[in-house]
Amino acid sequence: MKKVIIIGAGLAGCYLAMLLQKNCQVTLVTKGARQDSNSMLAQGGIAAALDPGDSPAAHEQDTLKAGQYHNQALAVEQLVHVGPELVQQLIAMGMNFDRKPTGDLDFGLEGAHSHHRILHANGDQTGAALTTFVQRQLAYVTWLTNTAAIELYTNKGVCQGVLVRDIESGQQRILTADAIVLATGGLGNLYDFTTNNETITGDGLVLAARQKVALKDMAFVQFHPTVLALNNRCYGLITEAIRGSGAILVDEHQTPIMADTPQKDLAPRDVVARRLKLWQQNGHQLFLDITNVSDFTHRFAGVCANLDKHHVPFRKTHLIPIQPGAHFMMGGIQTDLSAQTSLSRLFAVGEVACNGVHGANRLASNSLLDCLVSAQKAAMAIMTLTNLPLANFKYSPTLFVTPKLPTLAVLQKKAWHYLGIERTRIELRTFLIWLKQYNFLQLQPSQLSQKELTIANLCYCAQLIAEAALAEPKSIGAHYLKEEITHESSHH
Ligand SMILES: Cc1cc2nc3c(=O)[nH]c(=O)nc-3n(C[C@H](O)[C@H](O)[C@H](O)COP(=O)(O)OP(=O)(O)OC[C@H]3O[C@@H](n4cnc5c(N)ncnc54)[C@H](O)[C@@H]3O)c2cc1C
Repeated sequence: MKKVIIIGAGLAGCYLAMLLQKNCQVTLVTKGARQDSNSMLAQGGIAAALDPGDSPAAHEQDTLKAGQYHNQALAVEQLVHVGPELVQQLIAMGMNFDRKPTGDLDFGLEGAHSHHRILHANGDQTGAALTTFVQRQLAYVTWLTNTAAIELYTNKGVCQGVLVRDIESGQQRILTADAIVLATGGLGNLYDFTTNNETITGDGLVLAARQKVALKDMAFVQFHPTVLALNNRCYGLITEAIRGSGAILVDEHQTPIMADTPQKDLAPRDVVARRLKLWQQNGHQLFLDITNVSDFTHRFAGVCANLDKHHVPFRKTHLIPIQPGAHFMMGGIQTDLSAQTSLSRLFAVGEVACNGVHGANRLASNSLLDCLVSAQKAAMAIMTLTNLPLANFKYSPTLFVTPKLPTLAVLQKKAWHYLGIERTRIELRTFLIWLKQYNFLQLQPSQLSQKELTIANLCYCAQLIAEAALAEPKSIGAHYLKEEITHESSHH
């Protein structure tokens, strides 16, 4: 039986494990508990063109438009056609998406979708429902929780090993396999304002980058417009589906912030995030006004529980204090349509991968769908791999280098400022010069504490984003250069 190591227990990793478990010996390595992932936090839902009035072609067009046509057309085609089949298979297996009183599936609407096509479960707890459902199917998988993957090992140009660390005991060992799959998610914790689970720190990107595996589109980080903001800190996502149900963004005077833009409150996320940032810079407070959302407490029970936990008086005021936060990484490890990376037998699925499906900006609720599709394609490719003898890797530490790293808080603040919603070339260069004083590129992961390794990895990600942003010729999608607009607007 082929040995497969999957790193990351979000939807992509778990769905792949489910597909492979009967034919391969699967080990699922994950840094935290089984519940620690962004997949578990997904609120809005999963996009699938299954409504009778909808079509994969319409979904394709919306995805390309949101991605500013920077997408890989074939990847989008694969997503919109294969995705609905996989969703239907899950429904047939017993996955319960919310239904209307008639029994028909209840499709929601989110920003930049031309149809109601977002399936949701338990109202706003889709990610938890779906990921738990898939995890429950994992009967033949070996779980290694609280275990971090810290370095990849190759033999004659083939990826065959990964050094893992038990986070509690600190013990390290090399696991070998016929295929290794990175399903480690994005890098939201590079920023101080983020929607992401705390284990999401760009590790997979750096594991790959250290082996010179090709990355792609690293300039494109999506900022979600509405994160619950209290005392200058973030406390979780306020799903876009609430705006899809009639909520609007207002300031402290109840002025509608998005009223004069074409798609108003459901404009693409980058447009909304930039507008909010501008409003904030002009000294305004930002709120989501839920006055017009019917049945709010029932439909958005998860959001309400979070608001109550933080004593937000939304029942009285109908206002939720929000601000934008880092949410999703469009770029990542470059893969083909089968999730194969540029390194033989190393695969990447879900958010850590960049198969080009999202282009320069992700369409809401496309990422859970991509988790399913990329994992299914990886499963097919892994099943057809021929047998190769496995290497016998030995851990050989190099000379210890004393780490010189910023604190996480300082790095996050800098990243928010320089690599955030708006960038300038001068500031990107300033940031790269600042980063040069640290030696994250010289450090050996196995010799660092888990905390140091996390900071080193995030420094590496920050460098990759800054370099990619500088290389982008112009503003596109989620990558926005302030200077250019000034330049353009001076011509009008
Ligand atoms: C709050 C929130 C709401 C969202 N809502 C939606 C939505 O409604 N619809 C939608 O389509 N998308 C949504 N998204 C995006 C979507 O949830 C993610 O893109 C998707 O779940 C990513 O899945 P994944 O399996 O690739 O990674 P994740 O679910 O992020 O899982 C990554 C896993 O890898 C583990 N890991 C990381 N590093 C290591 C390491 N070094 N060693 C071992 N394990 C490691 C993590 O602990 C985690 O288990 C949302 C995201 C957030 C944060």
